[in-house]
Amino acid sequence: MSDHPGRQSSSALHVLQVSAELFPWLKTGGLADVTGALPGALAPYGIELRPLVPGLPVFLKAVTDRCFVAKVETPWGDALEINRVQFESSRFGWAYVIVAPQLYERGGTPYEDDDKQAFGDNHRRFAALSWAAMSLGQGLDPAWSVSLVHAHDWHAGLTALYMKVYRSHVWPQVPCLLTIHNLAYQGLFDAKHLSELAIPQDCWHMDAVEFHGQISMLKAGIAYADAISTVSPRYAREILEPDQGQGLHGFLRLHADRLIGLLNGIDTNTWNPAKDPLIEKSYQATNLAAKEQNVLALQSILGLEPRTTGPRCAVISRLTEQKGLGLIVEAAETMIQSGAQLVVLGSGDETLKRQFDALHARFPGKVNFRSGFDEHLAHQIIAGCDVILVPSRFEPCGLTQMYGLRYGCLPFVHLVGGLADTIKPWHFGKDDALHPDDLSNGFGFERDSSESFLQCWHEMMMCWHDRPAWQKLQKRGMSLALGWDVAAANYAALYDRMISSAAHKH
Ligand code: ADP
Repeated sequence: MSDHPGRQSSSALHVLQVSAELFPWLKTGGLADVTGALPGALAPYGIELRPLVPGLPVFLKAVTDRCFVAKVETPWGDALEINRVQFESSRFGWAYVIVAPQLYERGGTPYEDDDKQAFGDNHRRFAALSWAAMSLGQGLDPAWSVSLVHAHDWHAGLTALYMKVYRSHVWPQVPCLLTIHNLAYQGLFDAKHLSELAIPQDCWHMDAVEFHGQISMLKAGIAYADAISTVSPRYAREILEPDQGQGLHGFLRLHADRLIGLLNGIDTNTWNPAKDPLIEKSYQATNLAAKEQNVLALQSILGLEPRTTGPRCAVISRLTEQKGLGLIVEAAETMIQSGAQLVVLGSGDETLKRQFDALHARFPGKVNFRSGFDEHLAHQIIAGCDVILVPSRFEPCGLTQMYGLRYGCLPFVHLVGGLADTIKPWHFGKDDALHPDDLSNGFGFERDSSESFLQCWHEMMMCWHDRPAWQKLQKRGMSLALGWDVAAANYAALYDRMISSAAHKH
């Protein structure tokens, strides 16, 4: 056993998880699902993972038990009060919240105001999150000594830098893991904030914090973290190439020996068609016929025609360029001609909203578009549809295709990133007695083009008309182990390696 003071024994591994989002209290995307799931998933490994989040109103409202830990002042003069808290209906124990009304108690999302403008002081708001993480990592809470800090995305990117630069001489160095959920979001800020954020001048170069003349919080994390993970093995390889590297591929290659891809799991309690309180009728692989009641309920909620000859297709997504939804807009007419219906739930880009509104108006009773973020409706859609469309141009992991597998709602995906790691495409003539080892569980297209999308669509329609083949795919998907067990074992092993390696350095 390591003699590293942060790791007393395998039953006392303390991991501080730093993130801006945490399911179920605050979610704008997959980041929240992951940070919400990890504490529970790692508990069986003897790992106590405590989230640290900024004191945004939704988090403060959810606090049921609060204990003052310490006051911290950032170098730029923000007073932070660190509280140890319990959240209502939490599936885990303690968490930490930074109470700092001047930074966090306002409307909008964690990142933008109600007019969708990034907050002008985001550099300080997220640097404060990292500063608090660094302080907790160096013994701020005498009741809980941290063994490892696990920072998520650019929001917590400065954590590793602060931990290295402002290393305490009385506290042992604690390793820091950075998980990148999406390389497209890098936390870029004007270079004039460098000294304000207490980033030393010698970190200001292209192998550290600087990205084309700006401060990159994500790059700072990559440069200074002891290990970097991303959310699927394929995405970990893709980001080393110019196509998907978002300008950081060269830099990431320098750090490739510290980069690993660990596929996300999904929360199989929240996403379980056999016990989902949010859907009309529960069902499982052995009574798939009951799924039909969810189809009818959804059609009635959304004003869609009950009779269809094609699959009911769903999109549940942020409406952004990344998600490749333009391919669906282009293919919609062909899809409708095939007898399909289309249900889109999404929030984001105004142009995409207008395009889906136009489809809704053009194909009444066959297309429905709901603008907004609606967790309840998302469950009803997955339960009430036959196909989930995920045509992302790039996809670090993707969760909705895994929800689809679990609900017998077959994924139709662009074979990139985590989509390629989770979906084995069906091909006509392959899934028969000659191929008993076939593992296909959905449909996938190779190229980011309408042609490739439509080719896959037509192949999928062949499967749709072959009911036994379709049901076989549904049952196979529903029986897959998609929970956090595998991912949790991988994270636990990574934490262990990082802690032993840190111990050897001391
Ligand atoms: P990303 O993190 O890029 O947004 P993921 O597929 O990894 O994509 O995760 C998206 C998560 O957000 C899923 O849990 C999905 O169900 C949910 N989601 C996305 N848009 C909506 C929406 N409009 N309403 C409800 N849930 C949504």
